[in-house]
Amino acid sequence: MDSKYNPQSIEEKWQQIWAEQNLDQMPEDTEKPKFYALSMFPYPSGNLHMGHVRNYTIIDVIARLKRMQGYRVLNPMGWDAFGLPAENAAIERGIPPAKWTYENIAQMKGLFQRLGISFDWTKEVTTCSPDYYRWTQWLFLQFLEAGLAYQKEAAVNWDPIDQTVLANEQVDNEGRSWRSGAKVERKLLRQWFLKITDYAEQLLNDLDKLPNWPERVKLMQANWIGKSVGAYLEFPIVGMDEKIAVFTTRPDTVYGVSYLVLAPEHPLTARVTTEDQKAAADTFIKEVALQSEIDRTAEDKPKRGIPTGGKAINPFSGEEIPIWIADYVLYEYGTGAVMGVPAHDTRDFKFATEYQLPIKIVIVDDDETPLTEAYTEPGIMINSESFNGMDSIKGKAAIIQAAENSGCGKARVQYRLRDWLISRQRYWGAPIPVIHCPTCGTVPVPQSDLPVLLPENVEFTGKGSPLAKMAEWVNVACPNCGTPAQRETDTMDTFMDSSWYFLRYPDARNQDQVFDTAKTNDWMPVDQYVGGIEHAILHLLYSRFFTKVLRDRGLINCDEPFKRLLTQGMVQAKAYKNPVTGKYVAASDVDPENPKDPQTGEALEVFYEKMSKSKYNGVDPLEVMGKYGVDTARMFILFKAPPEKDLEWDDADVEGQFRFLNRVWRLVTEFAGQARAGTGAPPLQGGEKDVLSQAHPDQGEKDVLSKAEKDLRRAIHTAIKEVREDLDGDYQFNTAVSEMMKLNNALADAKCKDSPVYAEGINTLILLLAPFSPHIADELWHLIGNSESVHVQSWPIADPSALITDEITLVIQVMGKTRGTIQVPSGADKAALENYARESDLAKRHLEGKEVKKVIVVPGKLVNFVVAG
Ligand SMILES: [Zn+2]
Repeated sequence: MDSKYNPQSIEEKWQQIWAEQNLDQMPEDTEKPKFYALSMFPYPSGNLHMGHVRNYTIIDVIARLKRMQGYRVLNPMGWDAFGLPAENAAIERGIPPAKWTYENIAQMKGLFQRLGISFDWTKEVTTCSPDYYRWTQWLFLQFLEAGLAYQKEAAVNWDPIDQTVLANEQVDNEGRSWRSGAKVERKLLRQWFLKITDYAEQLLNDLDKLPNWPERVKLMQANWIGKSVGAYLEFPIVGMDEKIAVFTTRPDTVYGVSYLVLAPEHPLTARVTTEDQKAAADTFIKEVALQSEIDRTAEDKPKRGIPTGGKAINPFSGEEIPIWIADYVLYEYGTGAVMGVPAHDTRDFKFATEYQLPIKIVIVDDDETPLTEAYTEPGIMINSESFNGMDSIKGKAAIIQAAENSGCGKARVQYRLRDWLISRQRYWGAPIPVIHCPTCGTVPVPQSDLPVLLPENVEFTGKGSPLAKMAEWVNVACPNCGTPAQRETDTMDTFMDSSWYFLRYPDARNQDQVFDTAKTNDWMPVDQYVGGIEHAILHLLYSRFFTKVLRDRGLINCDEPFKRLLTQGMVQAKAYKNPVTGKYVAASDVDPENPKDPQTGEALEVFYEKMSKSKYNGVDPLEVMGKYGVDTARMFILFKAPPEKDLEWDDADVEGQFRFLNRVWRLVTEFAGQARAGTGAPPLQGGEKDVLSQAHPDQGEKDVLSKAEKDLRRAIHTAIKEVREDLDGDYQFNTAVSEMMKLNNALADAKCKDSPVYAEGINTLILLLAPFSPHIADELWHLIGNSESVHVQSWPIADPSALITDEITLVIQVMGKTRGTIQVPSGADKAALENYARESDLAKRHLEGKEVKKVIVVPGKLVNFVVAG
């Protein structure tokens, strides 16, 4: 028998066998409970990186485990294939986006298959394929019909390099595009939006239905939705028959309002501005229009404003207060106007100090002292007429009540969440399926005309939308009246594609419907979702929104798409950085004992950082797989850190896992060799009685396992129990691997290698290993005489009787000082315990030449020898 572990040939062999036997395919119509395992589908960049290996290894262990635990499992995979990189490749290298994308998909698919991930490729979806985006378009029309899609002129984030609109989330804290890095500008455009704000309250409240999501993800979503409870108040404008509406979470401070601020885009700005302020105000508004939203609202940026010359009346105090325009107020947000209460709001305090506006204190802690900064805590209301002396928390409700009574305001809830801007002025996305008719207005493309196909033979210049320049594609007859009309040339945000792909998987080949409701309901919700924390807000929020809308349209029956969420940590590796130049140096150019910059000789900083090309610290998965095999790469990733924590790459630990698999290989092949020679026992499973009758068939069912057999059996079933506890709940793969290593050691040290208990141990080790190291496990399972795949076996169950220990640990002391411990039978009485202690090598050694005067026995715990002298 070949005794050398050769991972590559084993992997090739088993991947082929699994494919032939359709082991990974979604089972239909069985009585088994369902388990929907899902990993976030990747953008097909063409390259496999360690982050992918980690993400998909995690989902694969879960899927394989659940199959063995008796579930019918769906573990699908697809491609988030629309988006800018393909279009940029077209612009830079002249490769059509479809060609570039499909080539990358083919390459990545091959790499995923090499990883031995049990994906059901018959359910593969590709978002840029017409048979998928046809249904993305159909879903858009569902939103349109439900009144949840609309067009509106809006100030948008404009990326001047990519010539496209960006969502707020795609603009970083410095006001730069997440992709091109360009400084983002503000621009007014007619855009398509989805009304996610209609679902704000549900999206917030239903976070409570997700006990198995990480708390920090739920917190991030709650903050993004940003619910605030307060009041809507109206301030009459002096000399006009109009009012300025504001939203405030602090109605208790209304007597402290010393000015109002309008957003520069607010429609009232022109009318409230007096003649002498007009020129200055216009200049200011034009300046602000060039700033990005981030620039305008960042906390550390100075707040800029200009008085309009107009005045409003505080509806409570009756005071006249000035109306200003300022950059930090956004028109899309709330009412586009705010009340300035400098004494009790940090931002207002800065603004009022800068422009010397009055600061009026209306809430105090205990005494009224001059403010050096805003007092934002609750307290007692003062300078507030009939509300004086009232607790300010109660004052909120009292002011709202008074506003309702006098008709100048009411209670209101406001959200930070805004409607989802889905328009993109790019080519490589699903065209928005509407036609603009001069007579009928916006007309949906009839369902029978879907998909609205992306035209081919497109010229990519990198400037503006290629679709808008294609007259033959744009000009069509109105489906309603036949008048010459024009297609919408915007395509959809790619987050649309990924907001429903998990609903398509259970019925991925359906040509007639978006999906069969019964089939999708059968599998939804996803039982375990695995992906990166970078999707904690947008992708997950949009998917939750889609799920709720489609539920309300009667297409599915679940409220939430993802029951459990695991956000895996990053894969990091050592990076070497020159602290003076800020440049990174490749590890291969560095002496790890004494890291110095090879060019300048300066000492380098060494730290762990996410693997990336620019830091020269990436480890190529193909290299690791080529050297050690896929199973070792998987074992290392699972063993090195709990899945939600960052993982630090370490070659020595990879080597360690390879050695472990080699030890398992030797142990099992030795056993298999003996079994074949007729000296070993057949593999077995079952309870203690079965083991007993096979171990000692002559002696019936009496308790006659030898001590060595009992010890080994305890080790086997302890491993089963511990691995189960590690995997139920939080998927602590790292400690599960440790348990397998312990079991491997117990088997290697076993004194009963010809016993059926040993065979039980070998069986168990292979079964436990199967989800983690699927290839070697199947090969070894085969070698010990099985014909079926290990992956269709049942997951082992711990036999509680094997776990009972009939020994206790007895502490041996001399003159109260602990000298060590011995194992003794658990039922021993005081006299027997003393005897075991006296007879132990430990006591003999420490009592040599001494006279024992007294022996103190604490049953079940210790024996203490009192000696003379
Ligand atoms: Zn028409």
